[in-house]
Amino acid sequence: MRRGARAAAAAGAAPLEAGGGWRARARPVPGGGRYPAGDFCSRCGLCDTYYVAQVGEACAFLGPGMARAEALEERVHGRVRDAASDERHFGVFQERFAAAMAPPVDGAQWTGTVTSVAIAALESGLVEAVVCVQSHPDDPLRPMPAIARTREEVLASRGVKPSLSPSLEVLAEVEAQGIRRLLFIGVGCQVIALRSVEHHLRAAGLEELYVMGTFCADNGHAEGLQKFLRETSSDPATVVGYEFMQDYRVHLKHSTGQYEKIPYFCLDANTLSEGVIAPSCASCFDYVNGLADLVVGYMAVPYMGVPMTAHPTIVHVRNRRGAELLEPVRARMVEAPLEDSGDRKPFVLETLLSDDRAALGRVQAPAPLPVGEALATVLEKVGPKGLEFARYSIDYHSLRSALKVKREFSEKHAGQHIPAYAAATFAEYDKGGALSERVQWSSWAEEEAAQTAKRRRRLEAALAALSSAGEFRRYALLLLTVAVLLGAIAFGATN
Ligand code: SF4
Ligand code: SF4
Repeated sequence: MRRGARAAAAAGAAPLEAGGGWRARARPVPGGGRYPAGDFCSRCGLCDTYYVAQVGEACAFLGPGMARAEALEERVHGRVRDAASDERHFGVFQERFAAAMAPPVDGAQWTGTVTSVAIAALESGLVEAVVCVQSHPDDPLRPMPAIARTREEVLASRGVKPSLSPSLEVLAEVEAQGIRRLLFIGVGCQVIALRSVEHHLRAAGLEELYVMGTFCADNGHAEGLQKFLRETSSDPATVVGYEFMQDYRVHLKHSTGQYEKIPYFCLDANTLSEGVIAPSCASCFDYVNGLADLVVGYMAVPYMGVPMTAHPTIVHVRNRRGAELLEPVRARMVEAPLEDSGDRKPFVLETLLSDDRAALGRVQAPAPLPVGEALATVLEKVGPKGLEFARYSIDYHSLRSALKVKREFSEKHAGQHIPAYAAATFAEYDKGGALSERVQWSSWAEEEAAQTAKRRRRLEAALAALSSAGEFRRYALLLLTVAVLLGAIAFGATN
């Protein structure tokens, strides 16, 4: 069902011209061309269609960028997030729970919640088509956006393709096919752009748009994924998926059915800090996909000692449409208790400092395997768990993105791009300006020089305090002597 985006753009433009000449005038970015957001483009696919004409009002990296995720909440969900509650981290939701599909969907990344919801939406007639991401025939990990209209076509999209996917490149095709009720499955930056142009799709005939999102962080280009797998796995060619689990280990799933588990601390931060995570994803503030109707993801569920294909995920139902999507599969889901324990804050700062220093160039050897295993085992017992682990991950990614954006965007653009909920997180951890001062440093040498200067200033201040104490003692002695003499004179006069 999928057609090339540019061919679709041509095919879709003509019938819609009466409603908007911008489609005909638009020039999609040609193959190998530069995207409007430059290096920060997350290749969401919008600019591969005539929708490039709307990039200024939709792109998650231009102008208000990621702050659109917050600005559009009221329109999408009927209200903004309650920043005084857990919605500050997780976005608007009316219900959430952890659950696994029973039985699981064979071949899914987890137990197949996303696949099951999409199939049910199609087969119940809720939607006519589903925009999903299938695998390229030559490479199962290479994303290939598609418009699915059958169970088989949705099933072909099982499993995560962990690199940037131009999912919005099918928008022109959606219009060309005259689809009136659509389910879009995607990640935060794509959903921000989609919600921003939704009114144009509706003007062209779309009647209902359902959006099912997944959590997303640390994504990257295909080459970055290959580098990550080469550096992490003993057999990168057979990896079909991976996840950073709550047992402080990366679980790599192989096509053989085997799992490889590497403690976080054994990863080479210096090597992985370059060319793995795309600049867009290192500037992202929408990990939780705040504008989707229904969000399915892992990060808030403690590791339960079972393979990913049997492991519960967490579901956030954000609004009425999310509840409608979930309703037909709810009876096939087995719920698991939600956990929430530990204190994320010291772990957030520790992880941020360690990663930021590696990014600035401090050489840091990965821990030897036995040490990494011991650390992971201890942290699994004493570290944040369940929802608190998710808050840890959200805070850490938010702070890391804020540092990058403040360093690399203009002050005005950074101010527009960072949503208020992320700015509040930055302020919360910026005690004594500890984070703000990091913004100034662009290399480890600069940080070292600044830290040395700071230590010297502290030492000088301490010495100055000691010396003033010495001065004080001298004056105090003098005053005491004068007081004694005056006392003696007064005593002599009275006698
Ligand atoms: Fe265009 Fe999407 Fe890239 Fe922004 S992120 S420049 S909207 S393709
Ligand atoms: Fe988009 Fe953010 Fe995911 Fe990158 S990390 S693909 S910018 S949602």
